[in-house]
Amino acid sequence: MGWLRLFENRPLSTLDLAFVMFVVGIGWVTWDFIRTTWWLLADRIIPASEMLISWGEPPAQLESFKESGTRLIGLVRYSATCPECAAAIELRYGQAHQRRRLFGCCVEAPHEHVFTFDRVKRQGWRIH
Ligand SMILES: [Zn+2]
Repeated sequence: MGWLRLFENRPLSTLDLAFVMFVVGIGWVTWDFIRTTWWLLADRIIPASEMLISWGEPPAQLESFKESGTRLIGLVRYSATCPECAAAIELRYGQAHQRRRLFGCCVEAPHEHVFTFDRVKRQGWRIH
């Protein structure tokens, strides 16, 4: 109904702009939820939203795993210490064609100390 009011021949009001912003916001949140759920089911692991962890905590991940034949989704935290500089390693998405692949990136040198991540074997190898 509110959408149809936008096509009336009348001056544009602040309420109209607020409505459009609200619809775009709802659309964005819905799309983001669908996309992250799809990526979780397809890739088995995604970075957890900031809504799921508190501010002071290190990043966590949502993981889809099988337990007793049932597929579950759990909040997990994979962490490691960088073998080059002893700083923490965080899982981050890659770039370009590897934007859905998680890499272990050192928090002190995130572009230099980069490692692969195999969540099944729970190990990785240095890339850079
Ligand atoms: Zn490092």
